[in-house]
Amino acid sequence: MTASAARQVVISGAGIAGLTAALALAAKGFKVTVFEKAARLSEVGAGLQLAPNATRLLDRLRVLDRLMPRAVAPDALYLQDGTGGKTLLRMGLRDAAETRWNAPYIVCHRADLQAALTAAVREHPGISLRLGSNVVSHEARDDATTVRIDAGDRIEEHRGALLLGCDGVWSARRAAVEHDRSATFTGHIAWRASLAAEDLPQAFQALLPEANSVSAWLGRGVHFIVYPVKAGNVFNFVAITKGRDPGREWSSRGNSIALAAAFSGWHPAIHAVINAAAEQWTFWPLFQIDRPRFMLNRRVVLLGDAAHAMTPFAAQGAAMAIEDACALAAALTGDEADWPAALARFDQERLARVAAVARRGNLNRFAYHAVGPLALGRNMLLRSCSPERFLADLDWLYGYDGTRFA
Ligand SMILES: Cc1cc2nc3c(=O)[nH]c(=O)nc-3n(C[C@H](O)[C@H](O)[C@H](O)COP(=O)(O)OP(=O)(O)OC[C@H]3O[C@@H](n4cnc5c(N)ncnc54)[C@H](O)[C@@H]3O)c2cc1C
Repeated sequence: MTASAARQVVISGAGIAGLTAALALAAKGFKVTVFEKAARLSEVGAGLQLAPNATRLLDRLRVLDRLMPRAVAPDALYLQDGTGGKTLLRMGLRDAAETRWNAPYIVCHRADLQAALTAAVREHPGISLRLGSNVVSHEARDDATTVRIDAGDRIEEHRGALLLGCDGVWSARRAAVEHDRSATFTGHIAWRASLAAEDLPQAFQALLPEANSVSAWLGRGVHFIVYPVKAGNVFNFVAITKGRDPGREWSSRGNSIALAAAFSGWHPAIHAVINAAAEQWTFWPLFQIDRPRFMLNRRVVLLGDAAHAMTPFAAQGAAMAIEDACALAAALTGDEADWPAALARFDQERLARVAAVARRGNLNRFAYHAVGPLALGRNMLLRSCSPERFLADLDWLYGYDGTRFA
């Protein structure tokens, strides 16, 4: 293979992982083609949290500046008692993020992050973004990978030195190797809705401790997250409940009566929000990958949800996709002879990192959904501990630089 052909990378999926990988690799001189099956990148989805471990990487890629006008840097994180409505913990976020972790903690709409990444991708001469292009198969050889693309009216073939499977939790690239047994339903559903700031019910406005904040309302087997997006003009709500496996479909219309039943006994102000957004609730079954895997073989690497979809309890889904992408680009040089060792280092580092983050998510779930004496103990602990201790407990997560190991 010639030197220039060796620097061609093919990416399946223009989600958060695929677009970030394209930018990070192009910044190192690789030529990148991104194939996305959707004909257009639409406003589907809702809010995302981006902690400093993600924003410091977006900043280096010059995406953060594009995103900030549409994002919000919350002043604080609140943990609230979902039934009584009382504050259990207030942790200052905005200043702590800048001083302690040297990067902002932000919340935004997923579509705004995707739009900021896409704008940067479109401006980069080394990246070609092809929408309406479904990657239907791949064949990895010793020297390259060939992908087949269904472009609607024709089938195309493209070659790259590397194929990155950034095609999400139900990754077809992963399924082609693992025969579709990888993602399992977690038993949880994320319900998402948003309301314009002026449409927030009065009762909820009165209960919300601070408008410019992330608040997590905790209760028996369920929790409810609230934060502003769209420069503070819209409030994003995520309700996590138990539920049955509805199949592999995202963003279908949810039944707000069932949602209200799952929050029975909760504070009336939360019910006021559930009712106010009644027509809007969408329903997202949460799947996870039990055995994270990056390397399908030496020519095909999975990134983001395709590699390690995890539950959202640590709010790190998008951040892990961004870390994966930047870590891979940091590891790779233009000299293919270095790749086996570089990819092995990348694989080892990222497997350890995503395992630690998934463990943190499991701990959060346990604490958020506790019942009876466990819930009382949790509430006492949250009320008595200093916020400083909670911040220090997050240093390993938010202070991490995904490119340092390379
Ligand atoms: C439409 C959408 C909306 C979302 N909204 C939210 C949200 O509101 N909040 C939240 O926390 N998380 C949301 N997520 C999930 C979140 O983006 C991911 O958990 C996280 O950001 C990791 O991103 P990813 O790039 O690995 O996967 P994803 O963001 O899922 O991106 C995968 C991309 O690959 C494309 N793709 C799939 N198969 C193929 C194929 N065969 N060929 C070409 N392209 C393919 C998909 O169309 C998609 O664009 C959403 C995902 C999607 C796809």
